[in-house]
Amino acid sequence: MDFINLKKQYQVISENVNKDILNILDRCDFVLGEEVFELEKCLASYVGVSECITCASGTDALLIPLMAYNIGKGDAVFTTNFSYFATTEVISLVGAHPIFVDIEEDSFNLDPTNLEKEIVKILNEGNLLPKAIIAVDLFGQLANYQKIQKIAKKYNLILIEDAAQSFGASHNNQKSCSFGDISATSFYPSKPLGCYGDGGAIFTNDKKIAELCKSIRVHGQGADKYDNIRIGLNSRLDTIQAAILLNKLKIFDKEIKIRNKIANYYSEHLKKYLIVPKISNGNISSWAQYSLLTESNKEREDLVKYLKEKDIPIAIFYKKIFSEISVYKEDNAFNNYDKSKNISNLIFSLPMNAYLEQNEQDYIIESIEKFYK
Ligand SMILES: *Cc1c(COP(=O)(O)O)cnc(C)c1O
Repeated sequence: MDFINLKKQYQVISENVNKDILNILDRCDFVLGEEVFELEKCLASYVGVSECITCASGTDALLIPLMAYNIGKGDAVFTTNFSYFATTEVISLVGAHPIFVDIEEDSFNLDPTNLEKEIVKILNEGNLLPKAIIAVDLFGQLANYQKIQKIAKKYNLILIEDAAQSFGASHNNQKSCSFGDISATSFYPSKPLGCYGDGGAIFTNDKKIAELCKSIRVHGQGADKYDNIRIGLNSRLDTIQAAILLNKLKIFDKEIKIRNKIANYYSEHLKKYLIVPKISNGNISSWAQYSLLTESNKEREDLVKYLKEKDIPIAIFYKKIFSEISVYKEDNAFNNYDKSKNISNLIFSLPMNAYLEQNEQDYIIESIEKFYK
């Protein structure tokens, strides 16, 4: 059994992918080739925004906007305490201070009430200037943007959506990557829409910021290629990756539907034994991960060990909350993050992908039933 099943997916698309890769090899048009610009058009239209800028990774898709908005020294950027390291790493990379916000236990996403508390606290302390919020759509479910957008407006903060795990998700038919002033996704192979290497994309309706991001993507290039007008990065997308993504985009909606069907099937059968994921009204998740909660840490350790013995691949996202990761520990020694701490002790994820066979789903469910009987 496979956690992500990239091999089975490749079997479905291999004919076209191989043909397209060979064509690019023939053309020797390897970086920012025509497929990259075609992909940007398709992605922008899929998401429903005017601008899409592809780049070299999901991490860069977060970093480039921070650079474009000139966020840095002395600035506070508010983000969840429970996500993948890259979410906060980029804040530190530009020299700003990440301020961690505790989560909602139902959605695992940052809690708007706590967000406002942290903003007020930083304003009262007066040492840092609140500049931006990075909200994460963890495991594929959108954060509570109805509330987060209001808070961003009230305190005049830039809202960045970290949609690395949620491409394809939606709220009342509005698509992920359209909720921030600027939004970022990742095409790392295991993400809902993955390529065959590293890749990412930035989305916005702001043409000016989009132009800045395009310049930063290529070393801060201006009109003259060799007269750089700002400091940037090398963060271009390979043409081959773009061709792969164009092929995967064709089957993507079908895959999201199947992921949702599998998630419902899991939940229906597992809610007797475990706390199953809660999806808020109006939300459709892209199910980057299907994550469950046990009642205790000991129960999780025993269950995970049992399932691994049954050859079921299990992952734990995330064992460490940001405030307890070595590089951030000291700064957060006196902060309390009860909810994220609690969730990180109880959570684990089951195999989730559109190629998980019915008998595999049943085997996983039966194994969990056996553990509890
Ligand atoms: C994967 C991920 C990233 C980083 O994406 P890469 O393409 O691996 O650089 C950022 N944020 C979150 C929430 C992620 O899951």
